[in-house]
Parts: sequence; C-alpha cells; structure tokens
Amino acid sequence: MIRVNTARIAPEGERIEGEEDSSILELESVPGAPIFSCGPVRYDLNASMVGRDLLVTGSAFVEFETECVSCLAKMKVRIGDPDICIHVENVPEEEVDLTPEIREDILLAMPVRFKCSEKCRGLCPGCGANLNVEKCRCGAKRKKRGENPENDAWRALDSLKF
Ligand SMILES: [Zn+2]
Ligand SMILES: [Zn+2]
Repeated sequence: MIRVNTARIAPEGERIEGEEDSSILELESVPGAPIFSCGPVRYDLNASMVGRDLLVTGSAFVEFETECVSCLAKMKVRIGDPDICIHVENVPEEEVDLTPEIREDILLAMPVRFKCSEKCRGLCPGCGANLNVEKCRCGAKRKKRGENPENDAWRALDSLKF
C-alpha cells in the first residue's frame, strides 16, 4: 500500500518515493491486452497539508510485457500518470492510503490494445506471415496469376462516389 502519514508531513511538504508490487493494480481483473510479466509500480510523490486537506502530486508508472494486437510480437510498455493530483479533504485519519487513487490513475492511462508501432503491418490473414519481417506467401501466388480480389474490391469502392 502507498501510504502517507499526515502527522509527519513537514510544512514545506514531504517527498514519498518508492515501489510497490504490481499486485496493487489487480491487473488480472482488467479486460484488454494480455499482460505477461509486470514490474513494480514506481511512484514519486509530493505530499503537503493545506489546513486539514492533503494534497498529493507527482507521478506513478508501471512497466510490463504485452503483445502487439496486430502482429502478436512481445513488447514492453510503460504506462502511468506523469501528472498525479490527489486531494483529500479534511483527512479523516493520520494515515491516508493513496493506493486506490494511484491504481485508478494508472489504469485510466491503460489502452485496451497495444500496437508495436504505428506502421505495424500485422499478420497476413491468409498465410499468417508476419508482414513486418517476411513476405506474404499467399499474396505472392496471387500476384503471379495477375489477380488480387482484395484490391479489386477496394478499387470498386473507390470508384463509388459518396
Ligand atoms: Zn505489431
Ligand atoms: Zn499471406
């Protein structure tokens, strides 16, 4: 848990940094991309008291391995919030648990799908070739025969005026 003891915060504020196991994110309950291995949640926060209110700013990130939705290549991603801002009004207890807010901030930054690059060409639906690194084998055959039904379909669509 990422906690701050409000009684110990100096008037000029207190820096709280460290890491927590990624289990605090409960990633297994998050739908979307598969997550193969996950590093710790790294946070660097600044806590200060404004009267009875607690203000926490800073950043929190996590790094994990997932796969490209398009070519299925394994890829490492870094997700998080560089601009955390948590405001707890009238702090109820000395010790405040910041974990739920930080979890939410990180999960809000999480896309449902990841792509290894904007230019990823994905896998050929016909032969399964990874078009980033190899040539499509079924397309090559089609070219030899001088026909490409897919392209023809697009050409037909292009000629329509909407
Ligand atoms: Zn890809
Ligand atoms: Zn192919």
